Amino acid sequence: MAVQQNKVSKSRRNKRRAHDALTAGNPNECPNCGELKRPHHVCAACGHYAEREVVTMVDDIDLEDDAA
Ligand SMILES: [Zn+2]
Repeated sequence: MAVQQNKVSKSRRNKRRAHDALTAGNPNECPNCGELKRPHHVCAACGHYAEREVVTMVDDIDLEDDAA
């Protein structure tokens, strides 16, 4: 088992962790539906990219219809 040679002080530990914070995303508004979406990604709500439908969205799937 590896054993540390020196105790890391609270100051040194906290200085290391000063860079660990996560940054918030930068969502854009979808030009088609207005939903917030990730930049340079297809809109998850309507399947549009650059005001063009690239993924066909299915309105509702009836799972009970073909369950048997
Ligand atoms: Zn959209």
